[in-house]
Amino acid sequence: MISPRVEINLDKIWHNARTLVQRLAVHGISVTAVTKATLGSYEIAGTLLEAGVDTLGDSRIENIETMRHAGVPASMTLIRSPMLSQASRVVKHTDVSFNTELQVISKLSDCAQKAKRTHGVVLMVELGDLREGIMPDDLENAVRETLRLPGILLKGIGTNLACRSGVSPDARNMAELSAIADSIEAEFGLRLEIVSGGNSANLPWAISGADTGRINDLRLGESILLGREPLHRQPIDGLHTDAITLIAEVIESKVKPSQPWGKIAQTAFGVNSPARKQGQISQTILAIGRQDTDQSGLGPPLDIEILGASSDHLIVDSGVNRLSVGDEMTFQLNYSALIRVMTSPFVAKVLYRNARPVKH
Ligand SMILES: *Cc1c(COP(=O)(O)O)cnc(C)c1O
Repeated sequence: MISPRVEINLDKIWHNARTLVQRLAVHGISVTAVTKATLGSYEIAGTLLEAGVDTLGDSRIENIETMRHAGVPASMTLIRSPMLSQASRVVKHTDVSFNTELQVISKLSDCAQKAKRTHGVVLMVELGDLREGIMPDDLENAVRETLRLPGILLKGIGTNLACRSGVSPDARNMAELSAIADSIEAEFGLRLEIVSGGNSANLPWAISGADTGRINDLRLGESILLGREPLHRQPIDGLHTDAITLIAEVIESKVKPSQPWGKIAQTAFGVNSPARKQGQISQTILAIGRQDTDQSGLGPPLDIEILGASSDHLIVDSGVNRLSVGDEMTFQLNYSALIRVMTSPFVAKVLYRNARPVKH
């Protein structure tokens, strides 16, 4: 079979999405499924919609365009602030975008008027993680300016935590977002349809039984695809953590010394940490490398240890197992490894439904 490849089990993705949709519905929270790791796959998008998610969110307009052209029947949200240079594509292909800059919203307004469309805007609020967001003190002004712009509909507010600085969503910062929603509504006499509390890192908070206040939407990517919450990378109860796996092929298998010899300088990727073992090992090379994935995010099979990687080679110690050229090895993926394999043109994507490969 073609190699390297990711095997994507659509039934497991459906199960994960369905389970999260149902668990959050109890708390009045709907799910925006984040597709940025799936390169706009029509089948994965369809699976997410069948599982009951309301909206699809992606950080890349290209992925949204791919899904639109394939006829994915969903409301689409651009979850990264639009580039000025992409404003007209954003207006044309998305229903809503997340925004933090008035200059951008103003350009979206121009484009919306030209296209005779209405574009929805969610204003992102900075609550401490220091990635995107308007500082809370500046939000009132941003709302006022946004409301003035023709062709723009203020749909709500949102925040994003845990991604850059690892700030955990908790009762305090989520209550702050709720309070901000209430005060904007009171000040401007309007209703915010969306209060988007965050990403998969919000799940422990959301299902802890804490008061979820005004939060009525979460944007979930990693938890659906990998079955884990990103704060401590623990498996989420009842979800599959192996919906997506990576298979790579052995191209060299030899017994070699564990320690290199010669005068040691930098490698192609900086300074190497010294080999730990002494003596001879079963060294196996797989035909996958840093061009395809993040080797530090691969979970090898039991008794296999990853020793290093270059652009095109993954070197493992296969322990007591002697592998043969042509053998395949299956890896679990963390989020970093996942986004790289999914976006590498060198890694085939093989989708399965009902245990059968899906033609696409
Ligand atoms: C990627 C992303 C998400 C999804 O995050 P997960 O941890 O994969 O659930 C949500 N919101 C924004 C703004 C994102 O960029």
